Amino acid sequence: MNIKEMNWMQLEEYLKQDDRAILPIGSVEQHAYLSLCTDAILAEKIAQDAAFSLQIPVFPILYYGMTPHLKAFPGAISLKIPLYMELIQNILEEIIRNGFHRVLVVNGHGGNNAICEVTSEVMANHPDVKIKFHNWWDGPKTWELIQAIDPVATHASWLENFPWTRLCNVIFPKHPKKAYNPDAIQLINGKDLRSVLGDGSFGGVYEHSDEDMLEIWETAVKEIQESLENWY
Ligand SMILES: [Zn+2]
Repeated sequence: MNIKEMNWMQLEEYLKQDDRAILPIGSVEQHAYLSLCTDAILAEKIAQDAAFSLQIPVFPILYYGMTPHLKAFPGAISLKIPLYMELIQNILEEIIRNGFHRVLVVNGHGGNNAICEVTSEVMANHPDVKIKFHNWWDGPKTWELIQAIDPVATHASWLENFPWTRLCNVIFPKHPKKAYNPDAIQLINGKDLRSVLGDGSFGGVYEHSDEDMLEIWETAVKEIQESLENWY
């Protein structure tokens, strides 16, 4: 259930029998040949796909995130770090004020991981509330499958190349790109990173079969559903 397809009366009815919600978060930044909104597209769709059969409301995605490292590429909209932290905290506090006690944050962008500190603080302020943070690709079964298909799974590589993040009339390079060490990439100044990275992928091949990608998707959806059913 998407909040954008519900009215307030339907939400009030829902809150009489359940207190779970999902907040997807993304980023707007270069993804090589894929959409600039790849992280947001993936987080929003996987949240919606997981929530559908469980009938749990999905709040509108926060498209923008923190991506200071990729600012040298056109299209990066990086929120200031304290602003983003405060924004996430504000949204979570508002979701709680509405009566939700279990919130799953579904993330599409590794650079947003620091908000775990915010979710901890919000839970400390609300002892009756549970908030979980989940990177869509990072559930144990999903990551194991990704590694089995191809261990070189990086930013803007095949890992994020789904039918819903591809663009019309864009052809992917056939040869794999040299894989960069993500720790080393973090140490390169953003201005230099563009010349180092070229097209923006962090390395590996650009595409795998739709069959493989859909298997990853289904596994990731199931893991999110398991997370929505188990709150300890
Ligand atoms: Zn991404």
